[in-house]
This record gives sequence, C-alpha cells and structure tokens, in this order.
Amino acid sequence: MQTNEREFRQAQQFLTEHDHFLVVSHVQPDGDAVSSTLVVGWLLSCLGKNYVMVNEGPIPKRMEYLSESEQIVDLSQAPLTESHKYVICVDCADFKRTGKSSLHFSEDAQILNIDHHPTNDGYGTVNLIVPNAAATVEILYDLIRFMNLEMNQNVATAIYTGLLTDTGGFRYSSTSPKVMEIASKLLEYGVDGPGLSELLLEQMTLPQLKLLTRALNGLQISEDGKISWVSVDDNDMEITGAIHEDLEGIVNYPRNIQGVEVGLLFKVINENAVKVSMRSAGKVDVASVAQSFGGGGHVRAAGARIEGTLETIVPRVIEQVKKQL
Ligand code: AMP
Ligand code: MN
Ligand code: MN
Repeated sequence: MQTNEREFRQAQQFLTEHDHFLVVSHVQPDGDAVSSTLVVGWLLSCLGKNYVMVNEGPIPKRMEYLSESEQIVDLSQAPLTESHKYVICVDCADFKRTGKSSLHFSEDAQILNIDHHPTNDGYGTVNLIVPNAAATVEILYDLIRFMNLEMNQNVATAIYTGLLTDTGGFRYSSTSPKVMEIASKLLEYGVDGPGLSELLLEQMTLPQLKLLTRALNGLQISEDGKISWVSVDDNDMEITGAIHEDLEGIVNYPRNIQGVEVGLLFKVINENAVKVSMRSAGKVDVASVAQSFGGGGHVRAAGARIEGTLETIVPRVIEQVKKQL
C-alpha cells in the first residue's frame, strides 16, 4: 500500500508498545490539526490506551461539532499537573509549533512526529512524514488502514474535515486523485459533505465579515502588481469584535487578485512580533520564504512568526518575496 511502509510500521509500533500518551497539535490549530488530534485519540482508544489530547489554546468554535473535541484540553485554561514521556505530535512542522504544550513533555520524552509539511525537520524519535499528503489526516487514514482498524462516521467526519480545510475545499493542487478517492470512501460512512462545506467554507460570522472589510480597506499592492498584502492588529480585532479564527481566509483575497503571485497577511501579535501568512499563485515557493524567517509550511501556503514591528517587517518580507519573483 505505502512506499514508506517502514515508517508506518515504526509508527504502529510506537502506538502499540507504549501507553499514557500526550497528543499535541500546533498552536492556533486549524481543521487539520484539530481533526488529526481527534483521529489519533480515537486510534489510541481502539488500542485500549490511555491518553490526553491537548493544545496550547482553545480549538476554533467552528469545530466544536467534531466528536470528542471537548476532550481536547486547552492548556491556557487548565495546565496539566504531570509531564508525559510518550508524545504524538500531529501537523507540527517543527518542535516549536507545539508551543507551550511542550512544557508538558518529560525531559526524556519520545516523540512520534506525524506530519505532511515538506519543511518538517524530523524532530521526532519516530517520524512519519509524508510531504505529498494533502493533510495530516490523509496520513492517519493510511495508518488506520495499515493497522486494519474499522472506522466509524465520527472518525470519517474528522478525516473529511482535515482534507476539506487543508485543500481549501478540494481546490488546491494538493487535491490528488487519492484525496478524492478517500473523500468518496468517507462519504460512504455517512459524512455530511455539503453540510461541512457550508459550515467551514461558506458561513461567516458578522464580526468576521467586518474584519475582512476593514483589512481589505487597507489592501496594498506592489508597483508591478505581483505582491499584495493586508495587515490586521488588535485594534481591528477589538473594533469588529472578531476572534483569532476569523483571520482564516483573509490572506486569500490579496492572493486572488489577477496577476498577483504572492498574497500576504500580516497579523500584529504584540509590539514586537508579527505573524505573516503567505499564499502563492504557484511561481514562488513561499515555504522557503517563510523558512528564511524561521517559519515553514508548503510551497503555496506558508507562515512565520517574526520578531519586530509591523513597519520594519513588511518591507523585509516583501523584499524577500521579490527576490523569488
Ligand atoms: P497559515 O498562514 O497560518 O494558514 O499557515 C499556512 C501554512 O504554513 C500551514 O501549513 C502552517 O502549518 C504553516 N505555518 C504557519 N505558521 C508557521 C510557523 N510559524 N512555522 C512553521 N510553519 C508555519
Ligand atoms: Mn495545520
Ligand atoms: Mn495540515
């Protein structure tokens, strides 16, 4: 089935031989991160294992329909009292993407690193990295089959959610024949495909729409029309009543302008840090741009957290993108 059968076998061994796991995804989790956490949790429960699912912060409200999502511990609200030796990281391109969750890894922790980012640096004790997978849930789907486990509708819904969100609704170039084949099988388990598309891709809250409007009001474009960007700060969030998850998707607007090669969203985190989201129309490898700022991601979607003020960071990032054009 897999060309990388050895990695799948090692991952299976990690799960079957140990117990009392910590399941972790990246800070500010997206649909793939939340779903992958839940799929691993389900897999461990099938094996009769003990585990705790955590994230540095809350999971997006929009994803609360996912079965067992309320079991993911928000460490900002409820820190754990003990540390864990066996850790499973999902959808985390590098160790620091786990954020404050890593404070709960023991010093001699063994990590199973399951991910699809080509920039993944292989920080795990065991690494199951499949860069051509559209989402981490795609790897987990293969792992479930590899381990001969029988899925149910709830797990199928989580896997579908990860695929749907990471492929932008089965539209990005990562939407391989295999992705569509998996999606088709998941629908047979009773997944509500149209309902999930409506909830995750179509619906907007009013504050979200207001934030988008405000951001687009300040849209900028380079002289050659190839780079376009917007920025958002806490004042924008406050005035519109938007929450963090409402930032999702804004970066696509500058990217969608005809002729634009790279769209950027700058989100001011505090006086001395900015998160930049990068989207490419195809020519520019934004993962390498993000990496040059200590971030990572995929060729056409990447991000980084950069120290400095918005005024200094914007020209630096644009300069770096221009070099790639
Ligand atoms: P985002 O712009 O946050 O939607 O992220 C786009 C892609 O870049 C995702 O695949 C993320 O996993 C990745 N990414 C975002 N921020 C970072 C970061 N600080 N370090 C590494 N990868 C990142
Ligand atoms: Mn992710
Ligand atoms: Mn992902």
